[in-house]
Amino acid sequence: MTITFIGTGAADWDWGAMPPGTRGSTATLVGGSCLIDAGPTVMRGLAEAGVDSGAIADIVVTHSHQDHFRPETIAALSDARGGNLRVWAAPEAIQALGGIQCDKRPLCAGARFECGDLRYTALPSNHATGNIREQTFHFLIEDGQTTILYALDGAWILAKAQDILGRTLAGRKLDAVIWDATCGPSPAGWRYAAHNDLAMIDAMKADMDDASVTAAGTVHILDHIARTLWPTDAEERRAIASRHGCILAEDGMSVNIPMEA
Ligand SMILES: [Zn+2]
Ligand SMILES: [Zn+2]
Repeated sequence: MTITFIGTGAADWDWGAMPPGTRGSTATLVGGSCLIDAGPTVMRGLAEAGVDSGAIADIVVTHSHQDHFRPETIAALSDARGGNLRVWAAPEAIQALGGIQCDKRPLCAGARFECGDLRYTALPSNHATGNIREQTFHFLIEDGQTTILYALDGAWILAKAQDILGRTLAGRKLDAVIWDATCGPSPAGWRYAAHNDLAMIDAMKADMDDASVTAAGTVHILDHIARTLWPTDAEERRAIASRHGCILAEDGMSVNIPMEA
């Protein structure tokens, strides 16, 4: 399964001026045609990654925070396909699309759906948008050979998500986890946070290994990086990720899962 990181930044980067080294709004292309999230820098990120915006057939929305969900971006992607675009999102996000021409598919926790060759399962996440009714999502993504967990935004893994994950995996192990690593080495507040820090990710990795949901070969990727909570030096950021047994996502980076040893 090919994963291309179109944007890897949390909401504290300057997307007006886009100074060099700026991470774009977090969005991830899975395979060639399914885009997770469509925030403010996505059209630019797709162009820089050499992805034709007309190739995007499905948009899967984690939640409606402005760094992940911008109706104008979805309208532009719909235009690029003559309206032949599917959008999978919580009903509250679907409603915000108004009259934008696309095939609107409301999601609930536990929903299973297909985007081309990919099978998605929507998992509830521990995050909040300000609209108390909106369920925010993580996703389990499978293509018949490879299984990945897309776990952003949100802190920890909810018990309901653990339950759905366990039943869907039925003993199989995850090939990769893409983590909300917003806070990096800065403590997030374990009992009162909407995002993960690296100590939280270490704890979850150990517990998921113990539960046989992940294994030594599982690839862990850190994403949704906050400008203000990680060191400014790019090398230092990569070294920190590596010390935690993880790969740091970068804008435009593409990985094939499972990775070659
Ligand atoms: Zn975010
Ligand atoms: Zn968010």
